[in-house]
Amino acid sequence: MSVLKVHVSYKCSAQCDHCHLQAGKYESPAINLEMAKNTILKLKEKNNLELVILLGGEPGLFPVLTHKIAEFAAGLGCQTRIETNASWANNKEAAVKFLKPMVKIGCEIMLSVDAFHAKFIKIENNAIAIRALDELEGRYVMEIPYLVSENSANSLDMQTNKLIVELEERLGRVPFAKNIYKGAVYFKGRAASKLAGLVQKGRGVPKEKCAVVPWWLNGAQNTFDLLSIDPFGNVTKECGIAIGNVYKNEIENIISNYDPGTHPIISVLIEKGPIGLAAEACAMGYVLKEDYADKCHLCQELREVLRVKYPEILTPENLYGNL
Ligand code: SF4
Repeated sequence: MSVLKVHVSYKCSAQCDHCHLQAGKYESPAINLEMAKNTILKLKEKNNLELVILLGGEPGLFPVLTHKIAEFAAGLGCQTRIETNASWANNKEAAVKFLKPMVKIGCEIMLSVDAFHAKFIKIENNAIAIRALDELEGRYVMEIPYLVSENSANSLDMQTNKLIVELEERLGRVPFAKNIYKGAVYFKGRAASKLAGLVQKGRGVPKEKCAVVPWWLNGAQNTFDLLSIDPFGNVTKECGIAIGNVYKNEIENIISNYDPGTHPIISVLIEKGPIGLAAEACAMGYVLKEDYADKCHLCQELREVLRVKYPEILTPENLYGNL
């Protein structure tokens, strides 16, 4: 399935430690509507785009823009999904107002329940959102990320399980959703700096390749099955690795010019994995550690160093550093 992830903004109503980006409570521009529509249209024509996912930061901070992009994509025959933290669901009226236009076009709503979001978003917001979705007969799925796994004794993971029980009690049903995706955190973006240290001890240096991203079913690095666009025009394979910028080149040219075998970062990830980037980063002063939380942690740290050499590829800037 051909998928485009549209980052409506990197601005968020939360600033979670597990964020695979570095989205947060800071000012960051929203995506330009016409640019987003043009990218979706061209990818529909050239790449048979099938699914458009709107995410952030928090797309609910930009409801009109989010609705317009989703409606446009649905009008072209694409499936749509919004990934949201439910911060807009402070009461039933607000939840219905945000959800109604999305439900009308058949958009799937993905909500998160976990200890990371709980610092910023009340569990009741999820309950309000789900009750509203039930009433509107909307489709929704739940994403539940764990630091280690749902069975671990880690305090964050145990808190996540408690939140699930609490949500089930508030809604009066078990399980509280038809489709629940449980999975481990990948230690890229903010998660690398905030959480990797909690679990990396004893895990060693990852040697796996990254020909297919581990967090997405059809995320092969050498296809256009998974692409993303952000407010700065970056077209990426996610992970802050760009293959072009629509403000500098037409999306159709970006696609036809993309050669994974010569891309300075992606070619290495496919052939050798993140460890293949180590020699270049070490020549620039990086010192390899004994342990990493996972291959994304290693990848993130090496890309942080290599960014000065590949600023147009290792982008956007706010996916790096320590926000
Ligand atoms: S190893 Fe790097 S490119 Fe592969 S999924 Fe992890 S962060 Fe992304």
